[in-house]
Amino acid sequence: MILILLGPPGAGKGTQAERIVQRLGIPQLSTGDMLRAAVAAGSDVGQKAKAIMDRGELVSDDIMVEIISARIDESDCTKGFILDGFPRTLVQADRLADLLAGKGRPLNVVIELRVDEDALLERIRTRAAESKDARADDTAETLKKRLSVYREQTAPLIPYYEEKGLLRVVDGMRSIDEVTDAINAVLNEVGAG
Ligand code: AMP
Repeated sequence: MILILLGPPGAGKGTQAERIVQRLGIPQLSTGDMLRAAVAAGSDVGQKAKAIMDRGELVSDDIMVEIISARIDESDCTKGFILDGFPRTLVQADRLADLLAGKGRPLNVVIELRVDEDALLERIRTRAAESKDARADDTAETLKKRLSVYREQTAPLIPYYEEKGLLRVVDGMRSIDEVTDAINAVLNEVGAG
């Protein structure tokens, strides 16, 4: 089962991805987490990515595709994986399609967590206030930037996957458990239950 979780920052992709990991026993591939690990390790990629991430902008498609391409070849991905935070541009989506086609592996479903933007700002503020080690990009100013980047560069993936018949929309404004139930219903529908 290969699935994509789509939605703006703060929509709850990470939280829901962890629950899908429990349910399906396939790994969550969070490109944000991978980049933060690269920044912490001080690798070449990390050094290039840090300032871009702090500004709330997107790291280059080439770097991202390279990272994800290497990751999905690892042994824990043979049964499938959950993409959280990738793809984020149409270029990344096209390159992912090529990658998967080359490996003969189908993308099963894209689940969009649809949320209200005003509520997001509040959620991110709470996340920043509650977190012991708040992320450098969890500030109201950067969030606004990340939301506008989402609208401009990532939201076009919604019609892109809709046309391919892969998109399922889940109301991300409901409680965490209700969102999980709605996602589980989609997973059952696509044969992953
Ligand atoms: P996230 O944790 O998914 O919100 O990602 C944090 C930051 O990492 C984003 O704001 C981007 O700067 C960068 N990033 C994560 N995934 C991608 C991606 N697929 N393409 C480009 N930049 C990304």
